[in-house]
Amino acid sequence: MDCVFCKIVTGEIPADILYQDDEIIAFRDINPLAPTHLLIIPRKHIPSLARLSEADSPLVGNMVNAANQLAKREGVAEGGYRLVLNCGKQGGQLVPHLHMHLLGGRQLSNALG
Ligand code: 5GP
Ligand code: ZN
Repeated sequence: MDCVFCKIVTGEIPADILYQDDEIIAFRDINPLAPTHLLIIPRKHIPSLARLSEADSPLVGNMVNAANQLAKREGVAEGGYRLVLNCGKQGGQLVPHLHMHLLGGRQLSNALG
């Protein structure tokens, strides 16, 4: 499958991987929008939030938990951070493999869209 994040999972495309377990990996965004900008993704190809099933609930919990741990490790937990899941074209999703953004390390805008 021609999916950039699947290729990061297999190692075909290099990435700065900060965390991995049997279900998810986390790595730095190639085009950071904040001093800390990480992506947390499932290893399996799920195209978007809209394609999650109820059975994937533990996976999403794992992603949020990993993001919280990484925020601490990156030193942004105390100052505050943002988790973002873009879904679909109008939601601003460019890469069609589910991913959670972790942004922190500067004052983020209050505007959401
Ligand atoms: P989206 O707009 O789909 O929510 O965000 C996709 C994100 O993936 C963007 O922030 C973009 O910079 C990041 N990205 C796209 N291609 C690559 C890549 O090859 N490596 C890494 N590390 N990040 C990527
Ligand atoms: Zn994929």
